[in-house]
Amino acid sequence: MPVAPVEPASKPFFVGSIMSKDKTPAPAKVANTVNTEPSKSSTASKPVSNLPQSATRPVSPPPTAKTAAKTDAPVALMPRKLSKEPVPFAKRLTLLKALHTYMKPQNDKIAKAVKPEIRALHLSPNQLNKLAVDEEEKLALENPSVYENILKHRLVKLKGMTPEVWVKERREAVSKEKGDALKKPPPSKVDTGLTPKEEVIFLSTLTCPQDGLDNHGYVTKLPSEEQLKEAQLVQTSAGFWEECDRCATRFQVFPERREEDGALTTGGQCRHHWGKRIFPKRTKNAVPEPTRLSCCNEAVGSPGCITHETHVFKISDPKRLALVMPFVETPENNKAPPHTAVCFDCEMGYTTRGLELMRLTVVSWPVHKPIIDVLVRPIGHILDVNTRFSGITPEQFVNAKPYDPENPKPVRKDLRIVESPYEARNLFLSHVTRTTPVLGHALENDLNTIRLIHPTIIDTVLLYPTRQGLPYRHGLRMLAKMHLGEDIQQGGAAGHDSYEDARTTGELIRFKVKEKWKVLKHDGWQIKDDGVYPPMPPGTPPADAASAPAAPSMVPVASTAVMQGKPAEKRKIDGEDDVSALPAKRTA
Ligand SMILES: [Zn+2]
Ligand SMILES: [Zn+2]
Repeated sequence: MPVAPVEPASKPFFVGSIMSKDKTPAPAKVANTVNTEPSKSSTASKPVSNLPQSATRPVSPPPTAKTAAKTDAPVALMPRKLSKEPVPFAKRLTLLKALHTYMKPQNDKIAKAVKPEIRALHLSPNQLNKLAVDEEEKLALENPSVYENILKHRLVKLKGMTPEVWVKERREAVSKEKGDALKKPPPSKVDTGLTPKEEVIFLSTLTCPQDGLDNHGYVTKLPSEEQLKEAQLVQTSAGFWEECDRCATRFQVFPERREEDGALTTGGQCRHHWGKRIFPKRTKNAVPEPTRLSCCNEAVGSPGCITHETHVFKISDPKRLALVMPFVETPENNKAPPHTAVCFDCEMGYTTRGLELMRLTVVSWPVHKPIIDVLVRPIGHILDVNTRFSGITPEQFVNAKPYDPENPKPVRKDLRIVESPYEARNLFLSHVTRTTPVLGHALENDLNTIRLIHPTIIDTVLLYPTRQGLPYRHGLRMLAKMHLGEDIQQGGAAGHDSYEDARTTGELIRFKVKEKWKVLKHDGWQIKDDGVYPPMPPGTPPADAASAPAAPSMVPVASTAVMQGKPAEKRKIDGEDDVSALPAKRTA
């Protein structure tokens, strides 16, 4: 067995968590599941999981939080008078000051956080006073007999507290304070001046050409038989050794569980930083700052700030992806509604087959009506639902009722589950045909996740290129802030919300429609029932639609970054804020 850094009372291998396949509570579900269940003989006599549930559950998600109120009455750093003092007042004052002293560096640290939503949790000096005074008072009121002990215990805890824990505490406090007031007002809609139907027709001017897309992670052709065979060979000879997607440790995966002990992975626990690298701004003649991590603001190379029960891996190579589940091309579908587009978003989690689809969300465009929103049972055994990024919790997975085709309308509070990614893909394909524009942000991830090759796509990553071009890309949150003035993905460890992401992506595309239409309209272009037409030269007799030139060849090509970019690892640059937000160039 490979040597691994293991915490006491923890196994060097991982056997599963509360929602692993063989612990699925509803027996009916097993029948439809793609057959990757371990053979009964290998696990029946072995304990499958003796870990406590809490040990395998991802970090409990704090509620969504926004900035603390900025308009507080001045608060002096002075204990509030109580009718029954737990200790002499002077002692309370000393302890209060100590509390404040230990809180201050924590608060100062997040002022420097790169993420705006973490910075927003920073308290003004007055707010910090209030926080200390409130907390001291609460302890004095609730536990007068052990007040001093509890307070001293709190001081010790604060002294050793990681920034992440502090942020979590602040988020919880803010959300508690605000309660229901947290619920955001419905975000405003972009006004394009067009009808929904016209907007869909206008999308033809933004459709991304397929050429060059495969350099950027898109799959545009089905892999050949030979390619698949070769990939299979490589995979077999690698003996299922993978590199951890989080901490880069080499570890072994047992897709069907290891015979002797039911293990799914080796290598012990995974300690890592979940944040992105923040490259410091370089200033001339200054000592260069170290590159830091957005999760904890520690320098790159420092020991990880979070520990998970198992290492996890991700497959990106389309040929290996196809081995897990083959790609298909979108078939013709005359049942797909005309004059509509769809915006879609996949959430993924780690399984013994890599990063797999766990939630599929599809909303109509441009009106953002939910069409599909389902949880998806993956092919492999679940290693980690990846709550921080997927927003999915193990509880949701365990408790979800089966999807009911008779009652397909998605209810966000009661997400249904489909039994395989194949079923999810079929559901998606029932709503689109080859010409249906499919919209998304970094769509190649979503399309590859459901193993789909779709010819008509619009990707906000390509519509809003960065100054440097690909592989640099803006995150959805950044784009929403830049163009829509919206704050999304405030969930922190609670992850994103697929519906919110899909809707935001849709609005960003509507924003592009608005900007581009403004220019074309000014130049005399027209939107007709079957396309977008350039102005006729003066003196041309009015033509009917039949003799008009075909729309797609006449419209300016969508401005995308595909051709300028270099194939390389994708990188978001969320700190970037000076990127051009201009509409597509005028071509007339
Ligand atoms: Zn970290
Ligand atoms: Zn790891």
